[in-house]
Amino acid sequence: MKAARLFGPKDLRIVDLPIPQLGAGDVLCKVRRACICGTDLAIFSGNCSFVRSGEVDFPMTQGHEWSGVVAATGSGVTRFHPGDHVVSTNGISCGKCPECLVGNLARCKNSRSLGTVHAWDGAFAEYVRIPERNLFLLPDKLSFEEGALLEPATVAYSGILAANVHAGDTVLIHGSGPIGIITAKLAKTVGASKIFLTGRKAYKLNKGKEFGADITINTTAESVSDVLARETIDGKVDRIIETSGAIELLQDSFLRISGGGTIAVLAFYEHPLPELAIDQIVFRNISLKGVADASRTHIPILRLMETGNLCLSPLISGRYGFENILDAYRDMADGGETRIKMILDFE
Ligand SMILES: [Zn+2]
Ligand SMILES: [Zn+2]
Repeated sequence: MKAARLFGPKDLRIVDLPIPQLGAGDVLCKVRRACICGTDLAIFSGNCSFVRSGEVDFPMTQGHEWSGVVAATGSGVTRFHPGDHVVSTNGISCGKCPECLVGNLARCKNSRSLGTVHAWDGAFAEYVRIPERNLFLLPDKLSFEEGALLEPATVAYSGILAANVHAGDTVLIHGSGPIGIITAKLAKTVGASKIFLTGRKAYKLNKGKEFGADITINTTAESVSDVLARETIDGKVDRIIETSGAIELLQDSFLRISGGGTIAVLAFYEHPLPELAIDQIVFRNISLKGVADASRTHIPILRLMETGNLCLSPLISGRYGFENILDAYRDMADGGETRIKMILDFE
């Protein structure tokens, strides 16, 4: 099979590899669509703390946002059959440890990430092998393109759950990438009263507005504190969801969060926080939650997509044949602010 193998930063080559061998419980999937994530671009370029720390094992195959068709099943697989349309989690759990056996896949000590850190070979290839426990049926109503957009939505919804967004809450979302934009939509879905979205690119902020943000803040032109002072009672919000990876926005979040509020952090940072206002966190009963596991949110997100309550296709800003993956990376890196999601077509 053809696979896009990353041999090191910026050294991506399409090579021939054997089709993966199936063990018990494995499913072989023929990839139909795969999206390129900001994390993929960071690993590809080498501009990423996980590459510098040696946690990315080269050579590797990227691709954790994908959809496909079941081609074959290993022994013991009962839920899937050849021809089924499928999507997966991006953590591949071991299925054998005590946490896996009680359904806590997120706490699996042997978990591997699909196509990123200490990678399980990902979906930038004609075929990908996924254990049955990490696979979901893609509903008939949804296209492969929509299926490949599932993963960022599961991350966004994990942020909504971690931040405990309830009806009537005011919510500040930092970052107008795909996850920030989808978070705005989901905050609206759960009934937030006023949703602020920050970013640096007008095009993406407008997309965020289309997806449900009430007020967008272009941080190159205005300050978050000025806008919140104008638009809220006390300049603070009930929930903050940080998707930007900008350390100064995380630092600022401790000043913008209401007493009893929650800050959920979905991004990665190159540096530790210079100051952690621990006394403020304690005195004002603030919760700070890191969010890396999205394994609980695939089923509700698929239902929202299937019922037409979450339409993600407008996020696609470039379509490329799989063989042109390098052009897709180039376009994503250099194409400017209109580039939100690049999708690869394997058909
Ligand atoms: Zn991703
Ligand atoms: Zn496990």
